[in-house]
Amino acid sequence: MRFLLSLVLGFLLLNCNAQNNISETKTQTETVLNATPKLVVGIVVDQMRYDYLTRFYSKYGNGGFKRLINDGYNCKNNHYNYVPTYTGPGHASIFTGTSPKNHGIIANYWYDKFNKEDVYCAGDSSVVPVGSASKSERMSPYRMKTTTFADENRLFTQMKGKTIGISIKDRGAILPAGHSANAAYWFRGRDEGNFITSSYYMDNLPKWVQDFNVSNAAESYLREWNTLYDINTYTESGSDLNTFEGGFKGKEQAIFPYDLATLKDKNRGFDIIKATPFGNSIVTDFAIQAIIAEELGLDSITDVLTVSFSSPDYVGHNFGVNSKEVEDTYIRLDKDLDRLFKVLDEKVGVGQYTLFLTADHGAVDVPSYLQSAKIPSGYFDNDAFKVQLDAFLFEEFRASDLVEKISNDQIFLNKNRLKQLNLNLENVQYVIVNEVINYKNIDKVYSSQTMQNGAFHSGIETLLQNGYHQKRSGDIIMVKDPAVISYSKTGSTHGSGSNFDTHVPLLFYGNGIKKGSTLTKTKITDIAPTISALLGISFPNGSTGNVLDFVID
Ligand code: ZN
Ligand code: ZN
Repeated sequence: MRFLLSLVLGFLLLNCNAQNNISETKTQTETVLNATPKLVVGIVVDQMRYDYLTRFYSKYGNGGFKRLINDGYNCKNNHYNYVPTYTGPGHASIFTGTSPKNHGIIANYWYDKFNKEDVYCAGDSSVVPVGSASKSERMSPYRMKTTTFADENRLFTQMKGKTIGISIKDRGAILPAGHSANAAYWFRGRDEGNFITSSYYMDNLPKWVQDFNVSNAAESYLREWNTLYDINTYTESGSDLNTFEGGFKGKEQAIFPYDLATLKDKNRGFDIIKATPFGNSIVTDFAIQAIIAEELGLDSITDVLTVSFSSPDYVGHNFGVNSKEVEDTYIRLDKDLDRLFKVLDEKVGVGQYTLFLTADHGAVDVPSYLQSAKIPSGYFDNDAFKVQLDAFLFEEFRASDLVEKISNDQIFLNKNRLKQLNLNLENVQYVIVNEVINYKNIDKVYSSQTMQNGAFHSGIETLLQNGYHQKRSGDIIMVKDPAVISYSKTGSTHGSGSNFDTHVPLLFYGNGIKKGSTLTKTKITDIAPTISALLGISFPNGSTGNVLDFVID
């Protein structure tokens, strides 16, 4: 009896221990499995080079960029791993965790070789704009072939976790939010000055968006743009008056101050706001309204908010990397970020949200400025190039229409014509590669065969291959010399595989994120798998990046 009792007791104890062990392991496993932020905020700053963090550091306050740098995790050596470094592909790659090779957004605009037409990355003729009288704002994410982490969060939460995408640019709102988003809103300038969407998401704007639009928010930003601080303290940029800047129509020189109310009529109405720091401010105002009205991050089910600040890109294109206008834009963006973070602290709670900030590409210093500093750079004339190539092909094959299209530094050949003339595609490609490599300012030329069959592990060839989509890309892929652009002689642009275009900030902050920094090279495609791993959700279906486990707490 006593033996039996001790046996039963022993069994009970054992059982109890086992249960303790199970519950112990369970809590341990739960803390390791995933973080549970109420809200993930993905911020993209359009055209932000990495060195804008360091160059303007002394001008930033403690609540904006510096808060993310000092209290979050700073990946200092973060790069794009494909070309071309444009806005559409950039936003798609950040949120899908893969490159154009898989998500299919090979550029902003590309040549559809099957339908023989130019297409836009967010264009969709099957939908209509909502909230705009315009006939052109027909937008959806349907050309993007893979899912974003926001899509995976929607699936994981039985569609209970919301997704809202916001930007000045349609593609900056639509591609990050993904296919299953509740809404994507972008800014319609011209004579409207409103945030709008498309019938892909809804049939009518919600009340809070209508209220925002009738509040005359856009009108209030038609004010004077002067430097926030004394212009003489802006020692991190070139002189205000120089020959490398575009400026606004209706004002002779590209110098401060700019009176937007008087310049508006000559610069496409409300579109002028986009090209000033006030574009960032109105996006911040709108994002704050979205957080409040959509109750983002209020319950325990993770929501996703994506905010893309497009205005720095417009300012950079107009005034260039080294301008006072760019410096002022970042000083003011820092203040808008501070304002946004304070609302997140208040409405969602300190430590309750996870945030990252990155950019969709960098930018080149204005080549004419670089030339003045003896740095190799220049301008490439696409039209002259086509004339030269067509003349060569006529000499070689007695046909003047072998090139169907030149787009995004790729040549699309006329396959029907090749067939008619009994010309072998690979042979024609080989001839073109060996011809074009001789042209001025052309650095490298490859055929689609090389992209399909090559096994590259580093360098520009890897970037080209990651940007090459078999069904959407061209037959010949060209690379121009470093800092050689097809662009006006004023202002900056982007698109190359050079470091000034690939090197962008990557800052993580908040729930589940360590404090720290790294100089280890990270890739833009690592962001989405890292956020997915943090949340414990399925990775975006085409994701090819790595989880940055060192940023996760
Ligand atoms: Zn961009
Ligand atoms: Zn741009």
